[in-house]
Amino acid sequence: MSVIEKVSSASIIDLENKYGAHNYHPLPVVLSRGEGVYVWDVEGKKYYDFLSAYSAVNQGHCHPKIVDAMMKQAQTLTLTSRAFYNDQLGPYEEYLTKYFGFDKVLPMNTGAEAVETALKLCRKWAYEVKGIAEHQAQIIVCDGNFHGRTTTIISFSNDDNARKNFGPYTEGFIKIPYDSIEALEQVLQSSKNIAGFLVEPIQGEAGVYVPADDYMMRAKALCNQYNVLFIADEVQTGIARTGSLLAVCGNCNCESHCEKQATYASPDILILGKALSGGAYPVSAVLANDNIMNVIKPGQHGSTFGGNPIAAAVAVAALEVVREERLAENANRLGKIFRAELGKYIETSNIATLVRGKGLLNAVVINDTEESDTAWNICMALRDNGLLAKPTHGNIIRFAPPLVMNDEQLLDCVSIIIKTLKQFEK
Ligand SMILES: *Cc1c(COP(=O)(O)O)cnc(C)c1O
Repeated sequence: MSVIEKVSSASIIDLENKYGAHNYHPLPVVLSRGEGVYVWDVEGKKYYDFLSAYSAVNQGHCHPKIVDAMMKQAQTLTLTSRAFYNDQLGPYEEYLTKYFGFDKVLPMNTGAEAVETALKLCRKWAYEVKGIAEHQAQIIVCDGNFHGRTTTIISFSNDDNARKNFGPYTEGFIKIPYDSIEALEQVLQSSKNIAGFLVEPIQGEAGVYVPADDYMMRAKALCNQYNVLFIADEVQTGIARTGSLLAVCGNCNCESHCEKQATYASPDILILGKALSGGAYPVSAVLANDNIMNVIKPGQHGSTFGGNPIAAAVAVAALEVVREERLAENANRLGKIFRAELGKYIETSNIATLVRGKGLLNAVVINDTEESDTAWNICMALRDNGLLAKPTHGNIIRFAPPLVMNDEQLLDCVSIIIKTLKQFEK
């Protein structure tokens, strides 16, 4: 196809339908350009992006500093594998570990790979440090979790769609209700074979469920008490999205995961992905201190692309942007305005019942059943009105714009969302 030939959205959608596996159900809009908080479709229509690629594009689309770092590195050295050293990985590892306050990092590419890495690390620690008998280690997970799509991870999902007919499943996981300290304590008391507790500080995919303010802190304290690793999956919530550098930092809105916060809920294992690259490149990471990370020896885990020079250069730039542009503080401030403005509307509305969230990870609950297509139809109308968002589950719409948004843009978006919801009032 020649580059000057005009392509229509419909013809591109047809190609995906015909030649691509149908493992997603995208909103029918075909994007061809992005800049900051905006994306454009192939017909040239401009939209506010309120998904940010599931919070990968926190720094905004095509951030010039991140693109620049990627271009420079792509022209210099792209991949060596870990069979040799490359000159980008060491400096990146120093930068990342100091940024988040851990001794070491294990670099991977996708979020699911990083979760797998954390699970393997946790099990190995359990056998070699804690002293659990081989094959007996159990890891606690939460109802409604989303940690990715590998065979092991979907083994402990309770989303039937994600699980059904993908068995046999990986053993060694115990599910408890989310946001229940009592349930966590009960399982910890009941078995000597618990190796870790894997948890999302806010359940994003499940519908942006925000637990009690002290849940992370109390869960961490219990894990300490029982010598169990507290594993935070911050793939979606981390890197300024919820108004602090990490969601486990709670209500502290400073720009670093600092000493003060370590007394709150500093994880034993921290899992990052998505915005670690600002959406430019797949980059994920597992962070831990030496007493845990040192159980992994050469040959025991790895990835051809993990820690490659482009990933390293891109991630440093992406993290610098978060600090330089004070994205955590911005997300915190704009999130409060977003929930306040939508909250006011919802009081008078019969189509939306609730707005919840933290920072710029928010959701609006639509007044209809989980099986209804009202939330989907609202997202179609939002698209027509110039704003892109998607339902998480059934009747819940997630609103997560890039964190580089300004006040004026946010208020513009609030009025688009309210105008659209009003079209659906009964
Ligand atoms: C997106 C996500 C993952 C998986 O990341 P991928 O890069 O899609 O594999 C894991 N955990 C959480 C909380 C996520 O939101």
